[in-house]
Amino acid sequence: MYGIVHSLRKAYKTMVIIVILSVVGTVTELVFAYLSSSMILYTDTVHWIIDTALEIFLLFSLYFAARMYRRFSWGALYLESISMFILVLVIFIVYGYLFIDYIHSFVLTTSNSIKASTSNPYLSLVTIFGGVLTLTSLYIQQRTYKTLKLEILKMDYRHAILDTISSVIATLGLYLTSITNNVIIEFITMIFIMFFIFHSLASYFRDSILSLIGMNVDPELKYKLYKSISSIDYISIKDINIRRIGSFYVVRIIVLIDPNTTIAEAHRLRNRIINLCREQSELIYHVDVIFYPRKKSKRIKRLDKAR
Ligand SMILES: [Zn+2]
Repeated sequence: MYGIVHSLRKAYKTMVIIVILSVVGTVTELVFAYLSSSMILYTDTVHWIIDTALEIFLLFSLYFAARMYRRFSWGALYLESISMFILVLVIFIVYGYLFIDYIHSFVLTTSNSIKASTSNPYLSLVTIFGGVLTLTSLYIQQRTYKTLKLEILKMDYRHAILDTISSVIATLGLYLTSITNNVIIEFITMIFIMFFIFHSLASYFRDSILSLIGMNVDPELKYKLYKSISSIDYISIKDINIRRIGSFYVVRIIVLIDPNTTIAEAHRLRNRIINLCREQSELIYHVDVIFYPRKKSKRIKRLDKAR
């Protein structure tokens, strides 16, 4: 048990570094996008902002996960989801405005004189810098994953591989557009980067929607929990409810125990149940154990009355 909490804390510390690298990347891209008005850089900035927000989301999840024995904070999680949604909305409105403006400029100019918004080949240094940051995160996450074996880190470093490809495409696109001044190359580069943005968002929203309706729980996990908790012989399980939030699970278990159980015993039992759950999956981030007194059988009641 100590092992998993310890791992989660280490993973949290790693994610702090990853988030710092991402914030540096985002700010750099945003500043240069603003200075140059390059649509490729603006599109790439949107990618950076969304990925950074998702990493912060993961960071929060790890923070809560490491506080396994504390009360579960639904409020904080909902607040997180809502802020993420608002952020995405704001970004799309701002970007949509820039994009319409960009398209509008084509319509207004005569076909012979269409100019790309990206004209400085040195801007590719910005995306190269971004790529270096992404590669650094990839390396750090891969190394942490190898020592901690936390599934959650694997998801994020797989994403970092895609992001490295995205920064290579952005760099090539920026360079080629600047030297040729070709709008078509610029547009294709933007579409490619958008593909990576939608990939990030699609998996995020799929998870959120499924967790809202409680559909993304692995049925095998429920069975595994039943099986391992049943190994405690003096309790009976009344119900197990699993909810998935983002990449983590929250479990609620109702067990029936002897009404004469002392509070100290119940407390020990609770910890034992939590430990058993955590052994089944590291993605279980909170366990609520609720005790109900087991009703006496009719035979015992009759004996009690006779007394
Ligand atoms: Zn990405």
